[in-house]
Amino acid sequence: MSPPPETRPRRHLLGEEARQEHDLRWMSLALAEAAAAGAEGEVPVGAVLVVGGEVAGVGRNATRAVADPSAHAELLALRAAAAKAGDWRVGGTLYVTLEPCAMCAGALVLGRVRCVVFGARDPKAGMVVSLGGLLTDPRLNHRCAVREGVLAEEASALLSRFFRERRPGSR
Ligand SMILES: [Zn+2]
Repeated sequence: MSPPPETRPRRHLLGEEARQEHDLRWMSLALAEAAAAGAEGEVPVGAVLVVGGEVAGVGRNATRAVADPSAHAELLALRAAAAKAGDWRVGGTLYVTLEPCAMCAGALVLGRVRCVVFGARDPKAGMVVSLGGLLTDPRLNHRCAVREGVLAEEASALLSRFFRERRPGSR
């Protein structure tokens, strides 16, 4: 039996192998941002927003440094991309090492980000799959495609090490 004919235009399809390669490439960059945040004493989370195959914005958690509870990696990457484009409709694909929280998921919907790829799940604050599904809620006027688990072990290891080193009596 011959395979069924393609029902969608070819140009919209990225082969699985190529997609995995893109995911790894951009998530590695997000992971480097996360590591830099950790070195600065921040909870190590990093994000990269890619639009048209190019980096449109990067961010790393900076809540302590700027004393701002909204200074999450995703928001900083989103703001940078919007400012650069002069357009709040950012679109593109956001790579982030940790599952976005409610605030960030809300902002990603508002910014019309098309796809969100995250590494590790956040069972305590994640609002993509763990505590809710804000990015894929059919009641909202925009939804994001979601992929997860890219370099998840590396992202988790960064976080575990960060919190272990900060536990009283650990050194
Ligand atoms: Zn957040």
